[in-house]
Amino acid sequence: MSTIDNLPPLREVIETHELAAKKSLGQNFLLDLNLTARIARAAGNLSECDVLEIGPGPGGLTRGLLAEGARRVLAIEKDERCMPALAEIADAYPGQLEVINGDALEIDPLAKLTPPIRVAANLPYNVGTELLVRWLTPKIWPPYWDSLTLMFQREVAERIVAKPGTKAYGRLAILSQWRSNPRIVLTLPPEAFSPPPKIHSAVVHFERLDEPKFEAEYKVLNRVVAAAFNQRRKMLRASLKGVAPDIEDRMLAAGIKPTERAEQLSVEEFCALAREVAKP
Ligand code: SAM
Repeated sequence: MSTIDNLPPLREVIETHELAAKKSLGQNFLLDLNLTARIARAAGNLSECDVLEIGPGPGGLTRGLLAEGARRVLAIEKDERCMPALAEIADAYPGQLEVINGDALEIDPLAKLTPPIRVAANLPYNVGTELLVRWLTPKIWPPYWDSLTLMFQREVAERIVAKPGTKAYGRLAILSQWRSNPRIVLTLPPEAFSPPPKIHSAVVHFERLDEPKFEAEYKVLNRVVAAAFNQRRKMLRASLKGVAPDIEDRMLAAGIKPTERAEQLSVEEFCALAREVAKP
């Protein structure tokens, strides 16, 4: 397998440092450095950016990011066993890689990053979705990041980019598409990973918007969307009953038919409804 730097092939790194994949940490490693370089390229122009990488493992994507010219990479990895392998990469790129050994769900890396900041990660799927929701719902918008380039289970990626009127359309699509432009940039078969997972994967790239596409208060929008999709087969006048006692009037004021169902409403319509619900 060809290499993008002077470091040993990843298979050798894994053998040398005895990094047998742990299921409990969702470890499915990418071993093809051409592929990790492609993922790094999908993250955009990195030369002027700090990149936050979560879950570098043996460092395949880290090496891709550095070889593609990232100004600096800050990587957070939970598995202590990976530290010596990551230290070798730091030696090969002096001053450009800092690694924190810890849980990304508990560490706030902001103080160690200089804007502009891009995020890139191939994470266990449960951690990935949790972090995605956090990255999309900071207290203040715009967030600290300019883009996210993240690997997901293909089915989750399809939910993120789903359009109204489809089965995959729901909370994740609305949350993702309200304040960013997500698109699937790469799909990967199980064989791309070691060990291969049971499912296909996909890389989603999110470019954040400076302003949300449509005005709405996040808390209200989230409440409306959650109630609507909790009972997605019901008409909205039934599923949104608990949101406001006069919900039908508010729906009409927002230009929405109370007989519609959650999956028929566009992001714009959900935002219009959230604005009506927020009124006293
Ligand atoms: N990025 C590497 C690659 O592409 O080959 C590894 C990907 S593997 C799917 C996920 C990585 O995330 C593992 O190295 C695992 O140890 C790490 N990880 C799992 N949970 C984590 C957490 N909460 N915080 C930081 N890293 C975590």
